[in-house]
Amino acid sequence: MIGCEIRTRSLNGETGMASAASDERVGRMEFQLQMRQRGITDTAVLRALDEVPREYFVPADYSNKAYADHALPIACGQTISQPYIVAYMTEQLEVRPHHRVLEIGTGSGYQAAVLSRIAREVVTVERYRTLADAARARIETLGFHNIDVIVGDGMAGVPDRGAFDRIIVTAAADHVPQALVDALVEGGIIVLPLGPSSGAQYLVKLTKTHDGIAREELLPVRFVPLLPGKAQEL
Ligand code: SAH
Repeated sequence: MIGCEIRTRSLNGETGMASAASDERVGRMEFQLQMRQRGITDTAVLRALDEVPREYFVPADYSNKAYADHALPIACGQTISQPYIVAYMTEQLEVRPHHRVLEIGTGSGYQAAVLSRIAREVVTVERYRTLADAARARIETLGFHNIDVIVGDGMAGVPDRGAFDRIIVTAAADHVPQALVDALVEGGIIVLPLGPSSGAQYLVKLTKTHDGIAREELLPVRFVPLLPGKAQEL
């Protein structure tokens, strides 16, 4: 497990090598192709992925793997999700340009950045201050102004922030936190991984209807656990 130290690539600095820039361009083109081949068809999602430089969200030691389709370790023992899962969850969330979206589990800020290219507003909550501060800095440098990064316990929702059209949870819980269901508008969608931290987890899509919650199971997945409370250190 790596510590809570943040060493991502400088947003303003350069790698200093033209070949690195061109490798990155090729990597991004292959990445788009791979997402299409794996079944991502929503053009708004594909465009959003193209607009967010993933290499700025992964640790410096892994920047050559930024566009490879797997999860990577970030600080505080957490992970940045596999790009296909980011794309798939974003597509399943059915985000529209007028939507307010809540994310629980900011991590690197990458998923929030992708969502922000489609939605009107994104509020994202992270229990580690270190991760939240680093994500906020990246997002500000990229000039994405419609994202609000909050430090807190996302399981408790964000009661002072009103209702959300869409909610995405990027850490696995064994049940759906009621505060999140309460924060959702009628007709709203939640996409979240459900299951034990060391066992079988399933990505689930919940739609809040007039009569209750409709549930659809999507994919087996592997996420870090959703933990209660704000992190005491880090
Ligand atoms: N979406 C992230 C990946 C998230 S990893 C990205 O794009 O990089 C899951 C994150 O959820 C971790 O950073 C973890 O600290 C956070 N987390 C776990 N439980 C939480 C809670 N109750 N409230 C807020 N964040 C939480």
